[in-house]
Amino acid sequence: MAQDPWLLTPGPLTTSMTVKQSMLHDWGSRDAGFIAINDHMRQRLVALIGGEGVFTTVPMQGSGTFAVEAMIGTFIGPKDKLLILINGAYGKRMEKICTVAKRAHATLEWAEDMPVDPALVKLALARDPNITHVAIVQCETTSGVLNPVADVAQIVADAGKRLLVDAMSAFGALELDSRKVQYDALAASSNKCIEGVPGLGFVLSRISALEQTQGNAHALTLDLFDQWQNIEKTKQYRFTPPIHCIVAFDQALAEHEAEGGVAGRGGRYRNNCKILVDGMRRMGFETLLPDHLQAPIIVTFHMPADKNFVFQTFYDKLRDRNFVIYPGKLTVADSFRIGCIGRLGETEMKAFLAAVVAVLAEMNVASGAPARKAAE
Ligand SMILES: *Cc1c(COP(=O)(O)O)cnc(C)c1O
Repeated sequence: MAQDPWLLTPGPLTTSMTVKQSMLHDWGSRDAGFIAINDHMRQRLVALIGGEGVFTTVPMQGSGTFAVEAMIGTFIGPKDKLLILINGAYGKRMEKICTVAKRAHATLEWAEDMPVDPALVKLALARDPNITHVAIVQCETTSGVLNPVADVAQIVADAGKRLLVDAMSAFGALELDSRKVQYDALAASSNKCIEGVPGLGFVLSRISALEQTQGNAHALTLDLFDQWQNIEKTKQYRFTPPIHCIVAFDQALAEHEAEGGVAGRGGRYRNNCKILVDGMRRMGFETLLPDHLQAPIIVTFHMPADKNFVFQTFYDKLRDRNFVIYPGKLTVADSFRIGCIGRLGETEMKAFLAAVVAVLAEMNVASGAPARKAAE
């Protein structure tokens, strides 16, 4: 079988052969074997945040956004008000979700290359007593910036408010231990740092908070309370579950555990990120973010200034060599992105750098340096 392309993207990602092979079967959704797998998957996820007995996993069919929309629609009641912290497209998406679901909300915004500032969150909470909840993105995949979730969580808790986290792109690689950081719910999905296949989102929910959400949801399918009750009582999903995806996810969770859990997975990604950034800098490329703001998930690079550099050609030639990169999503700078997550290690990252060297030579590009530097 030909080697699949290496996906250096924010997801879906490269998965292991064993994760892919786990899907080569049929299961009935009422099958005892599948029910056991689903139970195990839900328990493993709770264990990843140290939430045993306090949190429960509510799975949600669909991509990650379905889980975020379910989290907001279920936890934010018609009388609540959500403060959304925005420094990229995924924060903006939560604002849009609130608008569609007709939930009261306010926003605080930063540039895409800046982290959320906890001091401003504190001020905003002091100014508007109607705010009941705050929503933050852990790693804003738009730029790759890491937000200070623990600091914000402390401020939110001190103000007597509740926190919702979009942890999608970092869950399983960066710690978010519920015993150290206080939040009511966290949304993530099967196909990012756990390295499963796409098709399932989930919301790790504080049980005491989830119990208060009956009747809140704005959509039947996205009602986490109803989904939770049904799975607890009948072991069944209300609507067809993505069975193969769940089985593969459980396999991916076993492989995550075998790698050393969050510390092991995060360690490999940090190493991938360092190899990538060091290698790209040697070729003149510059990262959008300084190293201390960079999460080891996805790296944004400025577009090179060399007039021979055409991004589509660069992309296509890397694709010919079996590497898939990602366009930029920034409004602040012309850029492109390279992911360091998925079933990739040192060998693949080094092979990728060699491919970039070869492609730049073919394109007659002398340096990856962006305009700012070239003009000096
Ligand atoms: C990937 C991602 C999502 C979900 O995106 P989907 O395309 O719906 O899976 C949400 N938030 C962040 C921060 C993400 O990186």
